[in-house]
Amino acid sequence: MKKFKYEAPIGMFIKKHHCPKCSNKLEVKKIKRVVNSESDEAKDFDFTSYDGFIGARLVGDVEFTWYVYHCTNCDIEITNKDMRKHERENKRPRR
Ligand SMILES: [Zn+2]
Repeated sequence: MKKFKYEAPIGMFIKKHHCPKCSNKLEVKKIKRVVNSESDEAKDFDFTSYDGFIGARLVGDVEFTWYVYHCTNCDIEITNKDMRKHERENKRPRR
């Protein structure tokens, strides 16, 4: 099976992030899932970049690995994208 790994942005490990709901300190959690290129959920995954071959498209079962934030208190998972959005929206305007 082909494997694809999302590189975790380095900021995920350095910066401290807190849960939007309970303000608990979030853990970084590794997620692994096999997604078939013909399945409905394939649209949520990037099958087009693999090993640096731009333009190539993966076909069949592909194992994706990526990282999310996990709140052990609420048991919710937050993607890096959603976290950045949340932090942007909650940032106080600079003077
Ligand atoms: Zn929480």
